[in-house]
Amino acid sequence: MKPTIFGSGAIFKPGINKNLEFKDGLDGYEVKTATPENSWWHRRDELEAYAKSLDPVARVSRKTSFVWGIGALRTFATTIGRTVYFPDNWTFEQAKSCMPHEVLGHVAQFRWAGFFIHPTVGIPLGLFLYALMPLPIFGAWVRYRAELHAETKAWEYKLPRGLINGLQLKARAVRFAKMVGGKQYVYSMPHCWVLRGFTRRAEKVINAVKRRASGQVN
Ligand SMILES: [Zn+2]
Repeated sequence: MKPTIFGSGAIFKPGINKNLEFKDGLDGYEVKTATPENSWWHRRDELEAYAKSLDPVARVSRKTSFVWGIGALRTFATTIGRTVYFPDNWTFEQAKSCMPHEVLGHVAQFRWAGFFIHPTVGIPLGLFLYALMPLPIFGAWVRYRAELHAETKAWEYKLPRGLINGLQLKARAVRFAKMVGGKQYVYSMPHCWVLRGFTRRAEKVINAVKRRASGQVN
């Protein structure tokens, strides 16, 4: 029943989303909390091989240091330079579904910030821009654009491969926009702005992938 909402297009009107409840997993992202037995950590090599298939320099690591013990940092995946850090309470499937965003998006962004020499070179400038430009909150345009770019790269990778469908992509756009405009991303930009950006981009990616697919058929 519920997924039909996402096909209607009505969800793209900014402002109405706050009344909609998103069922866990509806956007194609697993949200199950891992037990010590099924943590992604047990399949670390497999996960890193997947990361390297997206970018040969990428690697994965655990969030075991106390530094990660602050707010959303503790529960989220975080990329710094070429390394994607995951908390131990993520399952392998969760970590894998997040990987295109982290590697095709954020690792590439650190490479850009490192003048295309290496993602590690881009760490100081990348973190500075992401956290503080032009303002730390409500005007963190770079943080918003970095997340929009990373998510676009993930959608462009996942949609043609059937790893996500159009309905899930739209649901993901709204759900993720809520986070990027909310406390998890330290209120990067006003929520209505972020929502508009993500939903428009979702439409654009879906249409481009559709066009490409029909072009291949003809
Ligand atoms: Zn991100």
